[in-house]
Amino acid sequence: MEYLIPIFVFYIGATIGSFLNVVIHRLPLGKDLVFQRSHCPHCEKLIPWYLNIPLFAYLFLLGKCSKCKTRIKPRYFFVELISGLGSLYLFQKFGLTVLFALYAIILAIFICHFFIDLDHSILPDSLNILLLVVALIIVALNDTWKLSLIGAAIGFGGTFGITLLFYYLKGKIGMGGGDIKLYGILGLLLGPLGILQNIFLSCFLGTLIMMFLILSKKINKDQPAPFGPSILIIASWQLFFPDSFTQFFESFNNLLLPV
Ligand SMILES: [Zn+2]
Repeated sequence: MEYLIPIFVFYIGATIGSFLNVVIHRLPLGKDLVFQRSHCPHCEKLIPWYLNIPLFAYLFLLGKCSKCKTRIKPRYFFVELISGLGSLYLFQKFGLTVLFALYAIILAIFICHFFIDLDHSILPDSLNILLLVVALIIVALNDTWKLSLIGAAIGFGGTFGITLLFYYLKGKIGMGGGDIKLYGILGLLLGPLGILQNIFLSCFLGTLIMMFLILSKKINKDQPAPFGPSILIIASWQLFFPDSFTQFFESFNNLLLPV
């Protein structure tokens, strides 16, 4: 019986993933999230109940709507898969605890933020507020108020200051308000050093991605590229795989010169 529990956790995670697909699609459009049944975004055909089974539905339909044959984005499958695997991973890490639930909510918010920012270049306030509430509960549980508040001040104040300076110098908004708020909230979870590492690495990653997009002519260089995904990738590494992240930074110790 014991092997059934991980399968169950994975299945619940994938089902939550299929709800996240709905959130990613409907939240930026201001549509109802709960009381509208799933339908094909193209021809509005309702998805029959037996196809609401996560992952299998996509495979069964071979990635196409059964009525209008419009291709369903592979993203729908991947969001369900990531949500399922992520839930399973967090379950192995935390067991059936409050922390498991809180980190699972963080994972869900990260997934929604990631794809909404890719599509619409926004990080919705409603998701940031939910993330703030979860972050405050974790800070209270771990009693890390002092370091967390310094982290939040650095995350919010630092990036807000740089954005203001950039605006005065160049007359352009360098970073969106959603990014600044996200850095502030992540500061609570990561603390002062963690948020500085995040700002450094996410700016580095964001610049690499932007260069790639400009060179491959996917965007032109005056177009703002969403920055949230870079912040979220680094934050996921820090929050979900903290040992690997610490090891990565410790490997730099070899580069220290004697003083
Ligand atoms: Zn359709």
